[in-house]
Order: sequence, then structure tokens, then C-alpha cells
Amino acid sequence: MKRIGVLTSGGDNPGLNPCIRAVVRMGIHFGLEMLGVRRGYAGLIDGEIEPMSARSVGGIIGQGGTILGTARCPEFYEPSGRRKALRTLNRLEIDGLVVIGGNGSLTGALELSRMGFPTMGIPSTIDNDVNGTDLSIGVDTALETIMDAVDKIKDTATSHNRAFLVETMGRNSGYLALISGVVGGAEMVLIPEVETPFEEVHRLIEDAYIRGKPHCIIIVAEGWKPGMEALAEQLREHQDDLGFSVRVTRLGYVQRGGSASSFDRLLATRLGAAAVRELVAGHGGHMIGWLKGAVALTPLEEAVAFQKEIDPDLYELAEIMSI
Ligand code: ADP
Repeated sequence: MKRIGVLTSGGDNPGLNPCIRAVVRMGIHFGLEMLGVRRGYAGLIDGEIEPMSARSVGGIIGQGGTILGTARCPEFYEPSGRRKALRTLNRLEIDGLVVIGGNGSLTGALELSRMGFPTMGIPSTIDNDVNGTDLSIGVDTALETIMDAVDKIKDTATSHNRAFLVETMGRNSGYLALISGVVGGAEMVLIPEVETPFEEVHRLIEDAYIRGKPHCIIIVAEGWKPGMEALAEQLREHQDDLGFSVRVTRLGYVQRGGSASSFDRLLATRLGAAAVRELVAGHGGHMIGWLKGAVALTPLEEAVAFQKEIDPDLYELAEIMSI
């Protein structure tokens, strides 16, 4: 292998730059020519690719976002789009590709490897829903951001005796909501994986008030149905029996930004470096993850086969800790 490309694709998060840096520098360490692909698969199709040096990734370890840019690319879902991408890779004589992204991006990498092109995936998503890794890059930093916000919301909730609904990201995954509920000391967590009727939420808020809690914090994952706004509406109709008055906060895109935590920088560096090593060793078609405290390879096919489930013990723990 002489030339390796790297791209970031799909949802962004704070660990992408440290990971690009690790991939580029490990490649240079191995004597490879490294190329950066802009805007994910869209840049691969359009040939937006440029050489990267050790200096071009200097100073980015503490920068959020991605210097390569990221994108969703509808064309890549089609075989014709993927053939275009393959033509670009062949024209530029690229021998292997590192794809940093979530489940969708890794599925794209799998499709490329099925066409005979060596790809190596690195799991990077704040949803932490990729199989074959205990943690994806970016999750830890997003959790720090959420925890900080929840602590602050709790201060104001306590001062005014309020119930707060706090919405976290996660269209299909309740991971962020669940963990931030535990570490933020929330009274309740509402996630897409668990059905929770309105009556139960109502009862919990009322009970918290009667038990003398000074606040009631409910973390709502974006994908929980019927959704935070609908819940707030219903609760306000029953304001008199609740005790607390209800407020809502959507944390939104702040969860994706910022400088990566030390944990994420370390994980990104380990996985980025290992991705290049494994690609060079001929293990294309795999994802490099972090399992039980060590770097581990999983076939891309397995990594994207299904969405990782949340830990039911942790859900129960969140309930117990909120008494
Ligand atoms: P994430 O990687 O964060 O899960 P998406 O699901 O939006 O984000 O996927 C990012 C991109 O990966 C898509 O815009 C598309 O270009 C590519 N992709 C996703 N799923 C597939 C698929 N099944 N086949 C080919 N490419 C895919």
C-alpha cells in the first residue's frame, strides 16, 4: 500500500479532528502518502481530495469539528454513485480508505469494500450505537457538555421549584439521554427504546413534589415519542396537580461542538493509528473499535448489522438513583 485516503462522514462530533490527525501521522510514520477527502462521500464522488502532511494536521487535536468537512451524500446510496467514487479512487491511485463516521458512513464503507476496495471504519458518533465498540469517538465529550448543562439547569430548577424537560440528541438512540440522566442525577429518563405513558411521567413528577424534592429533571431523548413539546403541553394542562411548574430546554447542536475531552482524544488517537496499521496489514473490510479496554477488529458487516442496544441495568439504576 502506498496511498491512503481519509474522510469524515455523517453526523459531526468533537473527536473527528484528533482522529484525522492520528490517521495522517500514523500513515506518514509508515512511509505512506496520505490524502484527505473533503465532505465525506460527496468529496469522493467529486474528487475533492488533497495531500495531507504532518503539518497540515498540526494544532487540530484540540479543535472541534472536522477540518475535512462532513456531509450526507444521497448519491452514495446508489450503485452508480459508488462506482463514481471508485473511479476517483482508482484515478488517484489510492490503495485504501479510512472512513470515520457512524452507522450510515460505516455501511457506505462496507459497500465500497464489497466492490473490492480496502476500507477501514472508525466508529464516531455521539449516539454510541455502533456494534463492535464499547464507545464511539465523540460520546464522552458530548456527555460532558450535557452533564454541565444539566447541572446548571438543576441550579435554576431548584431555585424556582420547577420541573424541567431537557431534550438531548438521539433520533433512534437513547444512549446520551440515559447516561446523562445517571450522571446528571435526573429524576426520569425518556428514551425511544422504552415506552413510557404520559400518566407515568405525570405520576413521577407529582410524587417527586410530594417527597419534597426541590426540582424534577426529566431527560428526554430526541426520538422519544410523542416528543418533549407534546409532553410539556400535556403536563401544563395538569399544572395544578403537579406541584412544580414545567419548563423545557432543548440542548440541540451544542452537544456536537467543542474541544474533545482527554478520553476522546486518546480514543481517537488509538483508533486512528490502529486503523492505518490494520489497513496496511491487509485487514480492509473491518472496523476498528474499543472493546473491553483494548483495540479490536470487527468485520464491517457485523458492525452495522444492527443498532447496539442500551444497557437495561443502567436504565434500572437511573430509576433507583432518583428516589
Ligand atoms: P452517520 O454516519 O452519522 O450514521 P448517515 O446515516 O447520514 O450518518 O450516513 C452518512 C452517509 O453515509 C450517507 O449520507 C451516505 O452517503 C452514506 N451511507 C449511509 N448509509 C448507506 C448505505 N446503506 N449504503 C451506502 N452509503 C450509505
